[in-house]
Amino acid sequence: MPPDTCIAMWKRPIRDAMESVENQFKSQLDEAAHDITNAGYIVALAGAGLSVESGIPPYRGPGGLWTKYGEPSLLSFNEFKENPRAWWENRLLSETENGHPIREMKLALDRAIPNPGHYSLKALEDLHLLKSTITQNVDNLQTMAGSKSALEIHGNRTLLRCLGCGARQKRTEISFETLPPICKYCNGIIKMDTVMFGEPIPKYTLEQCMDAVDNCDCMLLIGTSGTVNPAAQLPMRAHKRGARLIEINPEKTPFSPICHSVFTGKSGFILPLLVDHIRSILRPNKT
Ligand SMILES: [Zn+2]
Repeated sequence: MPPDTCIAMWKRPIRDAMESVENQFKSQLDEAAHDITNAGYIVALAGAGLSVESGIPPYRGPGGLWTKYGEPSLLSFNEFKENPRAWWENRLLSETENGHPIREMKLALDRAIPNPGHYSLKALEDLHLLKSTITQNVDNLQTMAGSKSALEIHGNRTLLRCLGCGARQKRTEISFETLPPICKYCNGIIKMDTVMFGEPIPKYTLEQCMDAVDNCDCMLLIGTSGTVNPAAQLPMRAHKRGARLIEINPEKTPFSPICHSVFTGKSGFILPLLVDHIRSILRPNKT
């Protein structure tokens, strides 16, 4: 579905709310839209808040999975390395066990579709304004929305990754008949692509993210509260290099004081309005 059609579908039943948000943020939208159209290299940093509107529960905070079930082990990568077979057996079982947090999250993710926030980032990419979206979300929704530039700093739940050669493959293409699954390229052990506690971010991905941040002169902070490193360090890194920061988040965050524009609200409402304002600047006679 074309992004504009999808955004229009979402907008129709909530038009009144959108108008109210637009009035509330009018001058800020103008300022941020000008910042974006004047920038030479824009990067977005997206967190769980972007996907909450797609029905995916956050990990932390009210309604968060970890708030409800407790934090997972901080040694999970070590546990995987010590016994990958047992880890996989436990994982596959957890995915089928009713009431298990892993199953609860899996069902929410299986049902989820991109929301107007994801499609707005795709629209900014299509306008040749947004160079890349560094997403901390593993839900694949930014890629489902059509983005070509998503840098999945914490991995992608639909993929598996070889610990030997780093090859990423679709989970649906891997056999689980013997555990752990083994890489067809190098016979290495395969794990989820999602980055576990205690596991370093894959080097190539981290380098791409750092390059993007070091080149940007404008950064959009979408639904991220800055609690997870190294992603949490990226806004300050961009700020120190003189980039303009634009934040969209339901609450103020530790980044808010260094942002030039702070939108306290839902990205699924504000991002489409921001894209509309940007289009009106780029094509003033057609709006
Ligand atoms: Zn391999």
